[in-house]
Amino acid sequence: MAVWKRALNLKHIILLAAVILVPFLVASPRSMTARMVADSENGTKVMVLNYHKIDDLDISLSVLPRDFDDQMRYLKENGYHTITPEEFYESLSGNYELPENPVLITFDDGYEDNYRNAYPILRKYDFKATIFVISSFLGEKEHYFTWDQAREMAEHGISIQSHTVDHKAMTDLTDDQLRAELVESKKKIEDEMGRPVDFIAYPTGTYNLHIAQLVKDAGYKAAFTIKYGNVDKASNIYALERVPIFHTEDTNKSFLERIRYTPIFESFGWVKS
Ligand SMILES: [Zn+2]
Repeated sequence: MAVWKRALNLKHIILLAAVILVPFLVASPRSMTARMVADSENGTKVMVLNYHKIDDLDISLSVLPRDFDDQMRYLKENGYHTITPEEFYESLSGNYELPENPVLITFDDGYEDNYRNAYPILRKYDFKATIFVISSFLGEKEHYFTWDQAREMAEHGISIQSHTVDHKAMTDLTDDQLRAELVESKKKIEDEMGRPVDFIAYPTGTYNLHIAQLVKDAGYKAAFTIKYGNVDKASNIYALERVPIFHTEDTNKSFLERIRYTPIFESFGWVKS
């Protein structure tokens, strides 16, 4: 029995399941996903997409504008509904009913190309999105958008939230440094935007339970990681999953694979641990 178990390792299980599931997914990806969501004991799953740059660069962190446009059009044509982090948070606490196929579109860092390339595409589809900004970089460093641009985007459905003051890996910092990163970025963005900042994305995705407690103490309602998966009521509110979207050899194929398969794999316990 033990030998059998060892031989049938995770790779084999995933491969076997993929062979069984792929024909169903290809035949009817949406109905399959919808049934899985309805079956979930933890309520509606929310897909949180994570982008960085949207520009004509050949690096994994930069999705081409035309690919980003195709992805947004796919979401629109397939009945996805974009939500704000506030709506997302209220739904987890049971105070807000999410639309069908909810998706939270997020960007990290605050790159100038988000304003130049992503924002017009988001407006074209009337989509909401969230940008986690590095508060000391905006309007100071080249390649980051300005506070004026941030305020303009906020008028049209883009929520500006925190990605700390200067993007240091949080596991390398003392408690005093951590508190400063959390509190000062929140205050700076609130002062500039005139809107509350209740959400944060961990720079480089690194965090631990102690850091999560400091995030809570600093007044944030929720925090996002780069842990792969979809969010539901079983998720840790200070360690929320996201689905990163990268520029690959076939970016849009990778995008479709990620958004279609994540709920399925998760329902078998292969993504969340
Ligand atoms: Zn970052």
